[in-house]
Amino acid sequence: MYKSTKFIFITGGVLSSLGKGLSAAAIGALMECRGLTVTLLKMDPYINVDPGTMNPFQHGEVFVLDDGAETDLDLGHYERFTHAVLTRKNNLTTGQVYDTVIQKERRGEYLGATVQVIPHITDEIKARIRSLANGTDVAIVEVGGTVGDIESLPFLEAIRQLRADLGHENLLYIHLTLLPYLKGSGEVKTKPTQHSVKALREVGIQPDILICRTERRISRDVKEKIALFCNVRPEEVIAAEDVDCIYEVPLKFHEEGLDQKAVELLNIWTRAPRLEEWETFIRRVKSLSRQVTVGVVGKYVDLRESYKSLNEALFAGGVHNETLVNLKFIDSESLEKDGIRDQFDDVDGILVPGGFGSRGIEGKIMAAQYARENLIPYFGICLGMQIAVAEFARNVCGMKGANSTEFDLETPYPVIDLMEHQRAITDKGGTMRLGAYDCVIVPESRSLDIYGKRTVSERHRHRYEFNSRYLEPMAQKGLKPGGLSPDGKLVEIMEYADHPWFIGCQFHPEFKSRPMDPHPLFCSYLKACLDYRAASGKDHPRVQDKVRKIRATDAQPSHAG
Ligand code: GLN
Repeated sequence: MYKSTKFIFITGGVLSSLGKGLSAAAIGALMECRGLTVTLLKMDPYINVDPGTMNPFQHGEVFVLDDGAETDLDLGHYERFTHAVLTRKNNLTTGQVYDTVIQKERRGEYLGATVQVIPHITDEIKARIRSLANGTDVAIVEVGGTVGDIESLPFLEAIRQLRADLGHENLLYIHLTLLPYLKGSGEVKTKPTQHSVKALREVGIQPDILICRTERRISRDVKEKIALFCNVRPEEVIAAEDVDCIYEVPLKFHEEGLDQKAVELLNIWTRAPRLEEWETFIRRVKSLSRQVTVGVVGKYVDLRESYKSLNEALFAGGVHNETLVNLKFIDSESLEKDGIRDQFDDVDGILVPGGFGSRGIEGKIMAAQYARENLIPYFGICLGMQIAVAEFARNVCGMKGANSTEFDLETPYPVIDLMEHQRAITDKGGTMRLGAYDCVIVPESRSLDIYGKRTVSERHRHRYEFNSRYLEPMAQKGLKPGGLSPDGKLVEIMEYADHPWFIGCQFHPEFKSRPMDPHPLFCSYLKACLDYRAASGKDHPRVQDKVRKIRATDAQPSHAG
């Protein structure tokens, strides 16, 4: 069956963080614009089975799929750029490969053979790659890490072998490199790219197309030079100039002829690409006429990567409102230390995102209280909802010391708690509610106005739940459920009516937002932020300058991948 599927492999060289994930996603988008169906796979060379247990400081956000898989943040790019339906099969790690091989060995499936990296590990990798095919036109496979890393060697060996297994024109190797610009001599240097391609050839892979990241436009001469040294044709050297907005990448690749070249080399006949949707979106991005500032109160304050999807969801909700969203990260621990002074004076909304661990919790509670009392739009996501509930219980319902049992086991009012069946489980991963769950929206709620439908599906990643014992006393004071699990037992959304916009949700809506299909909660929240801003009479001239600057800093992916 896989014979009919064409494969595109993406490797990276020179250094990490060049944007392999984005490139893979953008190529996926272009293939879809040509009417092809796509799927994507991220192969991560680390030994963890999944990134669920990794520190987001180091690895960036954990992206959660419908099936509950905790995956690499690049899968977030894949979902935002394409319509591919991703499951846990779309993120493969060295840990998973070894786990499977060792289990097979224990079951005696290798019939007495000495189990080795080649062929057993590589065969397992190849089998996983092939299993993707499943009727899809194009499977795009991103090899994590940088060529030359010890860890990624088995993956490179596996994709090398696939050229012989699948046939020359059924797969394509694309290599992403960097062309550094030397200010002193005013030159773009090609040597790192030459070395990177050399390293790739040493493991037996001759790239078909090079994507070269560059700060500035490169001349035909530079392309010819790279082509000569790297054994490709000049038109197979794609210049990936820095862009203001990541969603411009598909259009830039197209201008450089990348999708045309790819389909030619893969010998696929497609219609001419239809790029109108992307073009319209970029036009809208470039003509944003308003702006708001959202104060994001969290622990990993200066690391934007750990809130990647959140940033993108805010951006998309902003574009929907013709508004640039500035983010102001506010460290919750410093709120605890210094108290609330002027930190929220320049924000038009407060958002407390998801999080784990007790550090900075009281500062987040202070932020929720401040938003509630000062009628500033408040959006609490997962932990942010739990925080808002604890704050409301303490300060409105008179439940002194109310808390989540995650932070205070002795609290007299465990308004957020583990469910009975979770208590017995000791394995940390085992207690998480992960992946998509239906949520039934409560009639006559603000949530219903926002969603416009009674049943929605949202993704979860948490252990603790609203303790429904406290539903009634809180509802009496105005904090009411806006969404419940279908059996009515779990609270999925809480909303406070006596406030312009005060909503907390137990799920992560940011995982379902797409640039061209922004999430209704984000659209509505940002509208409220705009209203708040208008009412408070703030505005800045020269919005456009700021728009360009902000998006330019965002366009540089700073995460390895
Ligand atoms: N720590 C909280 C819980 O486990 C919230 C998790 C989150 O925000 N994703 O329930």
